[in-house]
Amino acid sequence: IQLNLDGQQINTFVSYFKSLPPKPATTIRFFNRGDFYTVHGSDAETAAKSIFRTTSFIKSIGSGGDALDSLIFNKNQFENYVKDLLLVKQYRVEVYTNPGKKSQSSWNLEFKGSPGNLSQFEDILFSSDNDRVLGNSVLGIKFDSKSKSVGVALVDNVDHCFSVAEFPDDDHFSNLESVIIQFGPKECVGASESSGDSDRLKKIAERCGVMFSVRKKSEFSSDGLTQDLNRLLKFKDGQQQNAQAIPQMSLEVAMASLSAVIKYLELCSDSENFGHFKIQNLDRQRFVYMDSAAISALSVYSTAENSSKSGPTTIVDLLDKCRTAQGHRLLHQWVKQPLKDINVVNERHDIVELLYNNTVLRQSLYEESLRRVPDLLVLSKKLERKKSNLQDCYRIYQAMEKLPLLVQSLEECTDGEPHPTLRDSIIQPLKENLKDMEKYQEMVGSTIDLDLVNKGEYLVKAEFDEDLQKLREKLDELEEAFERELNRAARDLSLDPKKTLKLESNPQLGYFFRVTLKEEKTIRNNKNYPQIDTNKAGVRFRSTKLLDMNEEYLAIMEQYSEHQQSIVNEVISIAAGYSGTLQQISDVIARLDVLCSFAMVASCSSKPYVRPKMLPQGSGKMKIIEARHPCVELVDNVSFIPNDIEFNNCSLFQVITGPNMGGKSTFIRSIGDIALMAHIGSFVSCSEAEIPILDAILARVGASDSLLKGMSTFMVEMVETAGILKMATSDSLVIIDELGRGTSTYEGCGIAWAIAEYLATQAKSYSLFATHFHELTRLADEIESVRNLHVSAATLEDTFTLLYKVKPGACDQSFGIHVAKMARFPDNVIEEAKRKLEELEDYQSTVEVESDVKRRKLILDGEELIKNTLQKCKSLKNEQLSEEELLKRIKELSGEV
Ligand code: ADP
Repeated sequence: IQLNLDGQQINTFVSYFKSLPPKPATTIRFFNRGDFYTVHGSDAETAAKSIFRTTSFIKSIGSGGDALDSLIFNKNQFENYVKDLLLVKQYRVEVYTNPGKKSQSSWNLEFKGSPGNLSQFEDILFSSDNDRVLGNSVLGIKFDSKSKSVGVALVDNVDHCFSVAEFPDDDHFSNLESVIIQFGPKECVGASESSGDSDRLKKIAERCGVMFSVRKKSEFSSDGLTQDLNRLLKFKDGQQQNAQAIPQMSLEVAMASLSAVIKYLELCSDSENFGHFKIQNLDRQRFVYMDSAAISALSVYSTAENSSKSGPTTIVDLLDKCRTAQGHRLLHQWVKQPLKDINVVNERHDIVELLYNNTVLRQSLYEESLRRVPDLLVLSKKLERKKSNLQDCYRIYQAMEKLPLLVQSLEECTDGEPHPTLRDSIIQPLKENLKDMEKYQEMVGSTIDLDLVNKGEYLVKAEFDEDLQKLREKLDELEEAFERELNRAARDLSLDPKKTLKLESNPQLGYFFRVTLKEEKTIRNNKNYPQIDTNKAGVRFRSTKLLDMNEEYLAIMEQYSEHQQSIVNEVISIAAGYSGTLQQISDVIARLDVLCSFAMVASCSSKPYVRPKMLPQGSGKMKIIEARHPCVELVDNVSFIPNDIEFNNCSLFQVITGPNMGGKSTFIRSIGDIALMAHIGSFVSCSEAEIPILDAILARVGASDSLLKGMSTFMVEMVETAGILKMATSDSLVIIDELGRGTSTYEGCGIAWAIAEYLATQAKSYSLFATHFHELTRLADEIESVRNLHVSAATLEDTFTLLYKVKPGACDQSFGIHVAKMARFPDNVIEEAKRKLEELEDYQSTVEVESDVKRRKLILDGEELIKNTLQKCKSLKNEQLSEEELLKRIKELSGEV
């Protein structure tokens, strides 16, 4: 594509562009040039690298010192790339336009958007192929260092909702991280703080894969907030507008965050927002706590961390057999929000069980009824914003026609009384809302011309309106007159009105005649038949009479379309009144869809899933029999070996040892996944399960080295594990894999021991601890609630088979060399290793006697080390060092450099 500008215009534009005020590198400016869009300067490079991964498409406009890097996109490319930049690559986008193609130095901001604010990008916002979009929200974060509390405000400006909360947090912002993970904002804003807090907040947001923007500290103040809220909030009828009286006002830190987001989204500059928002508390306590480490360890969904590693084998992918867009979205939300309320969990299991047992109903929902339900939420949001057309209204109409059948099939599913949970949470709300839609159905049924719908045309029936009907009759009369004129002209020109002379029409020209080029001579130079144009298909012309009639026809047609459009507008504004009801229907359908999806997964798996029995919080026991890892069991050519686990007073803390690749990690993750799935309402991959309601699922698996750049593996382990220790209670499930790897054996083992001891004796969490430190198996001798397990393997002379069976007791052999052999290490390397091992074994037997004393010592060293390092970290922090300096000093202190 060529930029259609002359040299002078290019020069003007280049100097205009260079004079623009600076902006953050994460904002990309597009220039709308009618048929195409351009991006310039450093933006061109950023966009090219991000979109194409190469800068080779960049062209230069202007010359010499005034040359400007440029990228040019056509409209279609622009739409696709902007979507990608906003949703996937996380950029802010501004689009400038040049009204009336004035001088190249006069551009206005047409619209702008960011990952959490797509309200001006309606096409993206309402494209239901994108599951992430509708949760369109920005989280404002303020950390109050005096009270050590975080105040957050989540603003969703599609749902028109403010959710606020304040909570104490530790130095790692663990609670904040879980809020970002579990409530899923698309963007975060925080205040620029000299203390470096904003950098730390930024790291947390980025770890969760969410864009973070720093805003002026002064924006995080509640000055003027009451005034803003008085405008934005919807007060109950009869209630005085008095934001000062809302209970959330007492959350001062959270309200400061809210104030900043309102400013960031410029909510008060659009009066359409006024009186629409509601405010509520963001209820973190409803959900089982999970942080990003747990999400990635349990492969819940693809995150920036695990996307490349885990591929499609995530819990979301596994469980998503949803048939509707609203179902997909809800499932994505549910997997991050395991519930603590046993009644709600049981209700979900009730419905899954019912669908699991009733194959006919399940199949009919899956194959038929749900598949046909359109994205009612998107349709209702479009209505609300008056962005709908008649086709949208018809799609709603059509869905409402079909839903009673779905209700009927649910009602019939049990002979006699329907299941109470199904009745109360699905059937009843659907019926009530469908009843509210009856008037809508009448209106649309009597307005839209249903005969035309089959042809893909969505128009108002002429009979619907007297004036429209009159205009239609006039048009019909004219159309008959056109036919008569055709016959007359054919006689006049001696042509055949069925073959050689054709009457045709199109929206621009109205009616005209056409003859082929061969017949052109019949009208050549004939004043009674003025020609319109000639092309390969023939000559288009009219008779003078047709010319007059056509003018009349076009005039009436215009009136007809105008009148039609005004009726359509009226229909849409009435239909908008139903958006609330539609959203409620959409919610119920989404719930049913997800639960049906759970039932499908549970029944379709080669080994069926079972309903877990949920125990109340504080039960102190958990039992999972024949647990299978729900994703690993699906991997081709793995015949999965199921395993049992039981937690009770004598076995709250389980140490798992055994050969590398022996299945330790798979085993402990399978327990985590099963616990999570149970809490979201799904059936689970085992033959029997009793699971207590948990308050947290905490996991630390492997050394995730990319997490905090600049920190050593050892420090990452310390940080993550410290987070776990702070959160863990007797109601938490803790999964720890290979702790202490990142440091020398002695230290590592000591740290692992100290942490294990804490979890087993202080926190008393349900813990699974997979380790290669054999020493830890001795914990069982000292602490009653510790039990040893090992993954078994069979060795016979030189052959070695991993059995993946988890058995009681500690593992008594080291299998490293066998594993190396299986992995096809060169023979000479293995021989050398064997020799070394024998040497070591000899050595070990001589030092056996001293070893217990040594072990004790190294454990004490380990504990000391943790204490010391944490202590030193604290003192360093008081010195107000920059993050880099801090890390450097910590490394020095921990003996790494
Ligand atoms: P470890 O943590 O002991 O090093 P992993 O849990 O990573 O071992 O398991 C290594 C591989 O062994 C897995 O990727 C999987 O293919 C296989 N595996 C693990 N557990 C089982 C099992 N119970 N049944 C069958 N295959 C298994």
